[in-house]
Amino acid sequence: MDLETWRRGDLCMHDIAFCALCKPSPYPAVVVVSLGWGNAFHRSDRCIWLRKGQQSVSLKGGQPAPVEHVALQVALGMGRLPCVSCFG
Ligand SMILES: [Zn+2]
Ligand SMILES: [Zn+2]
Repeated sequence: MDLETWRRGDLCMHDIAFCALCKPSPYPAVVVVSLGWGNAFHRSDRCIWLRKGQQSVSLKGGQPAPVEHVALQVALGMGRLPCVSCFG
């Protein structure tokens, strides 16, 4: 079930509208995080905020942290929040 269908209140396979079990995640299964700075996860490694963060580290003479694709659950487990630019 996709998010649009769920939001419409269509019945799921459990015959329930707005079923918690079937509620789709608005986020992709795999997200992008920078291992160094920030507390967000991103839809794409092309995110402008992600790039800016990396740039500001470089400008300060630092080594930008690696950007990795991780499972959504992993990002959430790291305490990351959805990037406003990517998901807002
Ligand atoms: Zn269900
Ligand atoms: Zn982002």
